[in-house]
Amino acid sequence: MSDKWICLIVFLILSISSVSGFAQPTSTTAIKCGRLINPVDGSVTSNAVIIVRGDLVVQVGANLAIPPGAKIIDLSGYTVLPGLIDCHTHTLLQPEDERGAPPVITKSQAFRTVQGVAAARRNLEAGFTTMRDLDSEGAGFADVAVRDGINRGIIPGPRLLVSTYALTITGGHMNNAGLNPDIPIPEPATLTDSRDAMIAEIRREVKYGADWIKLYATGTLRHVDPVTLEPLSQVSLDDVKAVVAEAARWHRDVAAHAYGGDGAKNAIRGGVRSIEHGMLMDDEALKLMVEHGTFWCPTLCVYLPESSEDDTDMRRRIVAHHKEVFQKAMRMGVKICFGTDVGAFEHGTSAREFIKMVEYGMKPIDAIRSATVRAAELLRMEKQLGSIESGKLADIIAVDGNPIDDIKALTRVTFVMKEGKVFKSPTKD
Ligand SMILES: [Zn+2]
Repeated sequence: MSDKWICLIVFLILSISSVSGFAQPTSTTAIKCGRLINPVDGSVTSNAVIIVRGDLVVQVGANLAIPPGAKIIDLSGYTVLPGLIDCHTHTLLQPEDERGAPPVITKSQAFRTVQGVAAARRNLEAGFTTMRDLDSEGAGFADVAVRDGINRGIIPGPRLLVSTYALTITGGHMNNAGLNPDIPIPEPATLTDSRDAMIAEIRREVKYGADWIKLYATGTLRHVDPVTLEPLSQVSLDDVKAVVAEAARWHRDVAAHAYGGDGAKNAIRGGVRSIEHGMLMDDEALKLMVEHGTFWCPTLCVYLPESSEDDTDMRRRIVAHHKEVFQKAMRMGVKICFGTDVGAFEHGTSAREFIKMVEYGMKPIDAIRSATVRAAELLRMEKQLGSIESGKLADIIAVDGNPIDDIKALTRVTFVMKEGKVFKSPTKD
């Protein structure tokens, strides 16, 4: 039979099957795990098998029979766990942007997007299959473009939940500081100096693709009182209530950058879903978080001094406070989520935060929970993400070593699957 006839027959078969509604058979994969960590109950199972069909996990268990015809992925030399979730990232920010001139002056948004595409890949290959990207740091709606490119399979990257611009105030955080006011320069966030402006900005962000709303409830380090360590409060309780209510209209949640003080308390009382950083919070703020069920992303590492210039007395006091608040929050039962601020440091290295969390006294399994089940709850995606269970998305990673004994194993990611598709593998296939 000629090639032409074969092509015609194949075409006819495909046409008939699509007309009559026969779906293409979904591929089945069996993953053999050396160890499998279940963050839900903290169990570690030897020789578990995960059966993946299409983009979903369909079965998990010890020594399961492998369905005939299934593709086998052998991870018997590794520890397998759910894809990790970093709840505080900046895909469009690069470490060099934190030094020198602000990127809104030196880089085009197109160039920042190119860098963001590379960053997304590095973060995925480091085991982060989901990231809540908490503002594009002046790169406009480029985070929406990167998210959509990933979702459409054009580029590899984590599942991104993006917040586009952020809401701040004139003179507060995310303003260009120390520049000539006579030259019009875009600000890294949107200056919303009234409640009406905040509401209008939320509508604009949602219109152009924001999944989350990011609010700067306090200032940054340069605004902290060097004697009392009091942060600059940028919002009133009524401001926060207005922001949360408007976000809720669009079924969006609010993440508040808040170091502590009144800004953090107003954010918690006003109903934000998560507090970011929070290193200067007092006991009252922690109690309020427990009462309101507010999540906390501590982002411990990003505040550690990285140069002798940073290593000031004030910075050392802030870092010591951060550690103390983290330990108190664990004791009081605050819902701690894994968040890093990656972008302010090298993309693909978020796992360093796990090491610091454990160094500060968190159990390794709880550190893993903070980046899986608990993070999925923060994102309201607990039905799809956070654990390897039948019916959930097949976001699965493997690491070299056992992170329960040695948390550093989470820096050695050898295998990454997102929605059933393999992006990194220790074997050639
Ligand atoms: Zn941040």
